[in-house]
This record gives sequence, C-alpha cells and structure tokens, in this order.
Amino acid sequence: MVRVTLHKGRELRLLAGHPWIYQRDLLRVEGTPKPGELVEVRDARDRFVGRGYINPYSQIMVRLLTWEEEAIDEAFVRRRVQPAIDLRKRWVADVEAYRVIFGEADLLPGLVVDRYGGVLVVQFLTAGIEALRGPLVDVLVDLLRPRGIYARNDAPARQLEGLERTSGVLYGEFDTLLQIAEGGVRFWVDVAAGQKTGLFLDQRENRLRLRSLADGREVLDAFCYTGGFGLHAAASGARSVLGIEFSKDAAVLAMKNVELNGFGDIVQVVEANAFDQLRSMDREGRRFDLIFLDPPAFTKGKEALESALRGYKEINLRAMKLLREGGTLVTCSCSYHLSAELFREILVEAASDARRRFRLVEFRGQARDHPVLLHVRETNYLKVAVLEAVS
Ligand code: SAH
Repeated sequence: MVRVTLHKGRELRLLAGHPWIYQRDLLRVEGTPKPGELVEVRDARDRFVGRGYINPYSQIMVRLLTWEEEAIDEAFVRRRVQPAIDLRKRWVADVEAYRVIFGEADLLPGLVVDRYGGVLVVQFLTAGIEALRGPLVDVLVDLLRPRGIYARNDAPARQLEGLERTSGVLYGEFDTLLQIAEGGVRFWVDVAAGQKTGLFLDQRENRLRLRSLADGREVLDAFCYTGGFGLHAAASGARSVLGIEFSKDAAVLAMKNVELNGFGDIVQVVEANAFDQLRSMDREGRRFDLIFLDPPAFTKGKEALESALRGYKEINLRAMKLLREGGTLVTCSCSYHLSAELFREILVEAASDARRRFRLVEFRGQARDHPVLLHVRETNYLKVAVLEAVS
C-alpha cells in the first residue's frame, strides 16, 4: 500500500476522528498514486494513523476509511454497512424512503445510499469509493435484498474527482419513475432524473413534524420541488396551498403528485422564480398564514458566501412581508458554509428590514438518517428555523 506522511502535528485532528487530509497536511507521498488508490497514513514520526484513499486531483487529498490496521475488503465494507443499517432500524421506523448511508457520517466517505421502497439509489462521489463499488453492491444486495440498485453518478463532484458522469441500473429490474408514501402522502419519485437521488430526504422529519401547522391556513411553499411541504400541508387540512418551483421537471412532477393525492382543489403549483413571484405577490397584497421557505444551497463553497448571504436575506425578507399577523415562517438553509449563528443573524436583519418581530419557536436540523458526527462539523448542514410573527 502506498504510504503518505503527514507534517508534524497534523495527525491530531485525524486521530480525533476527522477523516479529511488536505494537500497542505502532507509532507510526503510515495510514488505517484492513481485517483482512488488505497494509502496508509503515517505521522511525522512514522507512526500509523489510518488507512484511506487518495485522489491527487482533489482538494481533499486523502479520506480516511479506518483508524485500524485492517484490510479494506468486502469484510471491511460489511463492517461499515451493517452498523449504518442498524442505526436506521433504531431511529427511522416505518419509513419507506430514507438515507441508508450518509458518507462521512457513516464512516464511508464519498458514498450515499438512499432507499425508495425496494429500490436503492447510490452515489459514488469519489474515485476511492468508486473503486469499492463491487464489494459495496454485493454487501448492499446481501444485507438489504433490494429489488434493484440505481447509480446516480451525474453529480458535479464526480467531475472534480476525474470520474465519468454516467448513471444507470447496477442491479435488478425496475421502473425509474416509482412511487413511495411518506406519512400517508404519496410521491412520484424520478430516481433517474430527479434532483439529488429523487427526493430531499433530509427534510422528511421536518415535513412530518411541521405539517400540522397548516390546519385551516393559507399556505405558501416557495421552492416546493415535487411538492414536499405543500402536499403534507394539504393532507393536514390547509385551506389552500401555493407551490412555487422554477425547474420545469420538478413543477410537472409536483402537479402529478397533487393529482396522485387528490389535492387538485387545494394545491396549485406555479412554475416561476420564487424571488420574482414573492415580490409580485407582495405588490398585489397577497398574504399567507404559513410559509415554507426551503431554497437550494446558495453557496457550495466559502468563496461565494457574501452573495449567498444576500440571497438568503432577500428571500427571507420577501417571505416575512407576505406573512399575516400571527403567521408562521418555516425557513431553511442547507448550506454548510452558512453557520447556524450566521443564519440567525440574517433572519434578525431580514426581520428588522421587514419591520416585523418573530418568536423563534423551534430550531431544527436534518433527519436522523442523515446523522451528524459530533467531531466532523461538515456532517451538520441543515438548519430550519420556525418563526411565529408576533402580533
Ligand atoms: N422542500 C422541498 C425541497 C426543496 S429543494 C421538498 O421538501 O421536497 C429546492 C428547490 O428549489 C429545488 O426544487 C430547485 O429546483 C428550486 N429552486 C431553486 N432556485 C429557485 C428559484 N429561484 N425559484 C424557484 N425555485 C427554485
């Protein structure tokens, strides 16, 4: 196995359990390893730190798979996948669609496995995890007995890793447009062409927990994707729901989902830019009792944080203006680079500009099938503030 040696002191973060090694952490790399090759990591005094995989093209050069002197083989993969499945058995009961493996948080960096009923949708996001594809598929088939496995390998991250962006069926036979139920609401899921692996599963617990707020109210679901929060609101007795979504494919599927659930009289979906639509509704004097605001990550990196902050503030300001007295705003940020503290600051600023006051009723995060490692901050990314307009 290729050896890489760390600069003095750089092992401490790793020994505490963080799996990422940057180029600047490395004193020496033996030979010229290929992307995805297994490496053994040693500290500056040549003591064993761990084993992982390397990609010389990636900013994160090495991701650790283990802190033990063990072989990285099928038995190893099984020792990682089984506890991930057990964790979901403990915490995610009676759920058809959930995340089985969440990369770093399940000690399998670069791997995402989502389950939609009998079908698994897998993302191999790094060259190193791609290299383990064979044993991973075998172990998943053995432990979960899926009807099929689909590889969603079109994420931009793969290109940065020097990998091809090709998707397709890895195992079994199934329709890539499938149906699942979430808390009694049915969804069409396009695992081949939908965003992420088909659904935003990280919001599942928030959809289920917050849906009851909708009873008897006029609801706005800005950034609705295929209808997530809005359909749950309709199922919980909303008087009306307006969904806004600018991706045509998502809006079309949202409308199919409205039909599927028989909510045609309650839910309306418009294909539009939420920024523009919220502004024009404010001008027309439209108001809502409950607003869900779940925008995409306005920034994936540290660089664009400034403009992302402006985006978050702007959209929250517009939503706050549309809220009736006593109304509720559920506002989210899935950008890791925007900390919870900074997100709250932005909400304070937006509220001040909107001349509204709010109670922070709840501050929530991602569903438990997207576990957070205490010592790996990057695994904690979703923030959801539930604000009630003080009247
Ligand atoms: N709440 C949803 C997930 C939302 S993901 C659920 O529970 O399923 C964010 C969505 O915002 C994506 O569908 C994306 O296509 C859409 N989007 C991104 N920018 C937008 C914009 N400016 N206006 C409207 N929709 C937008």
